[in-house]
Amino acid sequence: MLGQMMNFPLTIGSLVDHAARFHRETEIVSVNTGGGVENVTWGSVAANAHRLGDALKKLGLRPQARCATIAWNNRRHLEIYFGAPGAGFVCHTINPRLFPEQLVYIINHAEDEVLFIDHTFIPLVKAIRSKLPGVKHIVLMGARDADAAAEIEGLEFYDELIETGDPDAPWPEFDENTASSLCYTSGTTGNPKGVLYSHRSTVLHSYASNTRDCIGYSARDIVLPVVPMFHVNAWGTPYACAMVGARLVMPGPGLDGPSLVGLIDTYRVNIALGVPTIWQGLLGEAAKSSSMLESLERTVVGGSACPPSMMTTFREQYGVEVIHAWGMTEMSPLGSSNQPLAKHFDLPIEEQHAKRENQGRPPWGVELKIVDPDGAELPRDGIAQGDLMVRGHWILDSYFHKTREETLTDGWFHTGDVATLDADGYLSIKDRSKDIIKSGGEWISSVDLENIAVAHPALADAAVIGARHEKWDERPVLVAVAAEGQSPSEQEVLSIFEGKIAKWQIPDRVVFMDVLPRNATGKVLKRNLREKFGEVLIG
Ligand code: ADP
Repeated sequence: MLGQMMNFPLTIGSLVDHAARFHRETEIVSVNTGGGVENVTWGSVAANAHRLGDALKKLGLRPQARCATIAWNNRRHLEIYFGAPGAGFVCHTINPRLFPEQLVYIINHAEDEVLFIDHTFIPLVKAIRSKLPGVKHIVLMGARDADAAAEIEGLEFYDELIETGDPDAPWPEFDENTASSLCYTSGTTGNPKGVLYSHRSTVLHSYASNTRDCIGYSARDIVLPVVPMFHVNAWGTPYACAMVGARLVMPGPGLDGPSLVGLIDTYRVNIALGVPTIWQGLLGEAAKSSSMLESLERTVVGGSACPPSMMTTFREQYGVEVIHAWGMTEMSPLGSSNQPLAKHFDLPIEEQHAKRENQGRPPWGVELKIVDPDGAELPRDGIAQGDLMVRGHWILDSYFHKTREETLTDGWFHTGDVATLDADGYLSIKDRSKDIIKSGGEWISSVDLENIAVAHPALADAAVIGARHEKWDERPVLVAVAAEGQSPSEQEVLSIFEGKIAKWQIPDRVVFMDVLPRNATGKVLKRNLREKFGEVLIG
């Protein structure tokens, strides 16, 4: 016997329709690519999303045609986020910081037919245009612009395109498992791989994000997604915020400290989301200015491990709570977030703070386990370290154009992370498995060493790699970036570790760089560091 309840497909179009119906006047602030700020509303975003969906249909695109974006976080991008999938097309967000060859690969692999671009990326697209035979329309996200039109043959203009669409055009009906959006991993090794989200997985991910123990947006919040919309759908922020009618501040291209502090203070932002390197810039600027980030209540930090010292600064100097979150492109991305349990409030305050440092617990909908090299499950005791495996409603089943067999192991996705899990389900990421340092049969977490190093005022940034060692196979080497106006010696840097970790875990060497190499999403390129410094302990 089946239940006798109504059954509507879970679709992205319904999210923006809800926002338009119940939060019509709720403001969305959008920093324009060319400068200046626009104030729009959920009502106008929804109307333009419907216009766009209808206009795309009138272009003659087939259902599921891929519509790609190379764009900053702004209101037109938001309209495409809803309009393309709402009308049954696939919104493919592209990271402009990838190498041009990778962009060409991704656009052709995805079979993109439409390319929406912000003004910034005209030179980038112009340079690769001849290698993109499948792209039928390149649309500049703005009004007609004669200079831009002279750069790219046949360039179309977003503001004109949407004029051809009807704001009251209904969304077509389709199965909730229909593809909605596509995002490629950053491909640090090999070609990037595509993750094809569905309407259902996106809506369920939004629901999970909106539970109190995850992020829990509300209609009272003013949310600043600093995390780019080309980085795993800005961690799902646009969709989750539409679901509850939260206000949004879209920061545009300026992700530097002064711009972000200005936006937070001007628009009274209370929730901001981003990777640790972005917050480093923000905290540096806030310290120099007189800003106390007064309105800011919570920051969601993920993408790389958030150093505990950063959490302390946010908490003690600005009264801001850090929600440490972990996830992956393959997971939409939310896998876990750190919120306390009731019993934690009985602990001394320092221990409560320490409990907030790891990557937290999974919400309903995500299952985690750790396994040994033979695939046997390891205990959830907070000590055993193993390969982290995941499965759940918003985790990929297969990569785009690949099979399930190529993607999963016994129905679980292998994250490539090494972690511990404790009895309450708290996850602590120790390393990427390829970055963990294997010293004479013992494992040393580079993340633990980096957290200690960056907590010291003499250092601005730090990364630890395993360097080849004749006796121990690998030993840790610290690549350090001195803080402004500081020039600590190797010995001074090594003394930071004394008493904080076991002696055998202390790095063997310190090498200095002016700046660490990072990939398109802000992660340190350890492979480059290993190529450069991997042999410093030999001979
Ligand atoms: P990219 O950022 O390169 O596009 P992903 O976002 O999919 O790719 O990267 C996922 C990986 O980032 C995770 O497997 C993990 O190693 C790392 N990561 C994400 N969040 C955290 C976190 N809070 N702490 C530690 N590592 C993290």
